[in-house]
Amino acid sequence: MSTTARSNARTTTNATDSLSINPVFVRPGESTELPKFQIPDGMSLPETAYQIVHDEAMLDGNARLNLATFVTTWMDDEARQLYSETYDKNMIDKDEYPQTAAIEDRCWKILADLWNVPDVNSSIGTSTIGSSEAAMLGGLALKRHWQARRKAEGKSIEAPNLVLSTAVQVCWEKFLNYFEVEPRWVPVTEDHIVFDGHDLEKYVDENTIGVVAIMGVTYNGLYEPVKQISEKLDEIQASTGLDVKIHVDGASGAMIAPFCQPDLEWDFRVPRVVSINTSGHKYGLVYPGLGWIIWRDTESLPESMVFHCSYLGGDMPTLALNFSRPGAQVLLQYYNFLRLGREGYRQIQQSSLDVAQYLSGKIAEVGPFELVSRGDTIPVFAWRLKDGHTDRWTLFDLSDRLRMKGWLVPAYPMADNLASMTLQRIVVRAGLSHDLATALLRDIEAEVEFLDSLDAPMPRIAVAGSHFHH
Ligand SMILES: *Cc1c(COP(=O)(O)O)cnc(C)c1O
Repeated sequence: MSTTARSNARTTTNATDSLSINPVFVRPGESTELPKFQIPDGMSLPETAYQIVHDEAMLDGNARLNLATFVTTWMDDEARQLYSETYDKNMIDKDEYPQTAAIEDRCWKILADLWNVPDVNSSIGTSTIGSSEAAMLGGLALKRHWQARRKAEGKSIEAPNLVLSTAVQVCWEKFLNYFEVEPRWVPVTEDHIVFDGHDLEKYVDENTIGVVAIMGVTYNGLYEPVKQISEKLDEIQASTGLDVKIHVDGASGAMIAPFCQPDLEWDFRVPRVVSINTSGHKYGLVYPGLGWIIWRDTESLPESMVFHCSYLGGDMPTLALNFSRPGAQVLLQYYNFLRLGREGYRQIQQSSLDVAQYLSGKIAEVGPFELVSRGDTIPVFAWRLKDGHTDRWTLFDLSDRLRMKGWLVPAYPMADNLASMTLQRIVVRAGLSHDLATALLRDIEAEVEFLDSLDAPMPRIAVAGSHFHH
C-alpha cells in the first residue's frame, strides 16, 4: 500500500466515526472534531488553528497574579519588537549570525565583569537555555577536573561526589543522576536553615569534585554564605591538603546581588569560586529561556568539553548540551543591559526588594505566620504557620483559598529532613506593584479570617506532587 493510499484509508475510517466538517466553514472559536493526540489528517484554516491554540493558552493562569514563578513575564514594547524581528535566529549558527554571536560574547563578558572576575579576557562563558543547562556544564567541568587530577595521580575515578544542600533546585538532582555523581547531601535543619559550611569536613573527601553554593535558595530566597563556606574549605585544605572548588548557583541571586548588595562577597572575589550560573530569564529580566555560565579562567573549563564544529562554516567552538536554540533571548539580554544599565537594574531589583519586605512585614503582622525569610536577599520570602496556631487548617488550605481569587501562592514542604515543615512563598517580580501587593494582603487577611472562623478542620486531601521532592 502506498503512503497516499494508507492515509486515504485512514481519512475514510475517521470520516465514518466523526462528524465531517469542511475546514473552510469552521469559524474562529468554533469547536472542531480535530483529534487531540493524533495529527489531523487534513489541514485547518490558519485562523481556526490559531483560535484553538489561543483559546487553550488563555486557560493558563494570569501571569501578573502568579507569585510562584521566578521567570520574566513582561518586557517593554521595544524588547517585544526586537523579539519579533529576531525570533528566527538560531544561536548555534554563529557563522550565519556572527553579530548575534558577537553580542553573546559581549553579554557573558558583561556578566563576568559584574561578578568581579579578575581578568575578563582570560575568563570564558556561554549562554544556555537556562540555569539547568548551565548547572550541568558547571558540574561536568568540576567532574572532568577531578578525573584529570586523579588520573594524573594514578588514582581511581570510580566514585566522584558533590557536596550540596538538600535544599538545592531540582537541576542539581538531575546533574547527579544524569552524570552519575554521588550526592553528599548537607541537611538543612532548624539551626542551619541554609547550608553555611558547618561540619563540611564530614562531607568532603578525596573524591569530592566540588561544593555547590546557592545564591537564592529556591525554597526561601536565602543566600548560602559563599565566603564562609569557602573559609571552611580553606581550613579543610590546611588540615587535609584537599583543594575543593565552589560552583555558585546564582540562578536568581547573581542578578540581584551585583546591583543591590554590591559589598557582599559571593562571586569571583572569592578565590575558590570557579564558576557561576544565572538565569537570564529570572532577574536578568528576559523572556524564557535563557541562562548563562561563566568560568573564572580557561583552566577552569576543561578543553575536553569544547567541541570544534565546522559544518556550519568556519571553526566554531561550541560548548553546550543543546545544538540549535533561539538566539533572540541573547539579543534581548543585551537590549536590557543597554536599556537599563547598572542603575536601571538596581532600581528595578530594589523596588522588588522593597515590595517583598513590605509584604513580608505585613504578613508577619497578620498573626498566624512566622517568617522564614524577609525578602532582603532576593525579593523572595517564605513563612510558616506558628506552632500551635491551629489544627483546623494548613498553608495548603490558604493556598487553595487564594487560588480561588486568582492568586498563585504555593505552599510546599521544606526539603528532605525538614519536610514536615510546610512553607508558603512569594516571589516578587517587577510587575508586582505596591498596589497589587496591598490587594493580595487584603485577600490573605480575609482568607485567614475565614479559615480561623471554621469550627471544624478543613477536610484533608492528599497534597499533589510537588517538584521540590528528592
Ligand atoms: C530556577 C533555578 C534553577 C533552574 O533554573 P532554570 O533557568 O529554570 O533552568 C536552578 N537553581 C536555582 C537556585 C533556581 O532558582
